[in-house]
Amino acid sequence: MLSKSIEKLANEFNKLPGIGKKSALRLAFHILEMDNEDVIKFTKIMLDVKENVKRCSICGNISEEENCVICENEERDNETICVVEDVRDVIAMEKSGMYKGHYHVLHGKISPLNGVEASDLNIDSLIERINKSNIKEVILALNPDLEGEMTSLYLSKILKENDVQVTKIASGIPMGGNIEYADMATIISAIENRKKF
Ligand SMILES: [Zn+2]
Repeated sequence: MLSKSIEKLANEFNKLPGIGKKSALRLAFHILEMDNEDVIKFTKIMLDVKENVKRCSICGNISEEENCVICENEERDNETICVVEDVRDVIAMEKSGMYKGHYHVLHGKISPLNGVEASDLNIDSLIERINKSNIKEVILALNPDLEGEMTSLYLSKILKENDVQVTKIASGIPMGGNIEYADMATIISAIENRKKF
């Protein structure tokens, strides 16, 4: 390698999802060609994200305030909670535009192989939320893979003790698929055809 600094930067880019070695090197050279001012702006924006973006204290979605815009929106249906694995699933569901209820983000799924247990997930706050409010339906919208199914089953069992209807999105999303990458029509049909758990 001609430059240790370029190599170091490329290695960092290579750690990002979806960035292979070639792209990482291209990005590193692109940074080299950028104006100092733009590089400073770029690093500041990254630091701002780390500093300003936190988890909503109610649902676990990302937010720059104590509560996220969805929790703060009084026009949304406050009797329905859709449980998802990840913030990116909230973004995908919101893009579909057909779901008007609230969300609860687990930040993962039960995965014995990766050492993730139910207690590692944002589940206690979900139960607390259901107990405190007038939630009538909980829609389980986890990715249709083995771990997602295990998590849904676990949640359906513990939610049975609460006075809520538990439904699960239909598998318009194929097994092993990913809500985040599903097209809008698939998400809409999955929500519309949800089944009682
Ligand atoms: Zn929220």
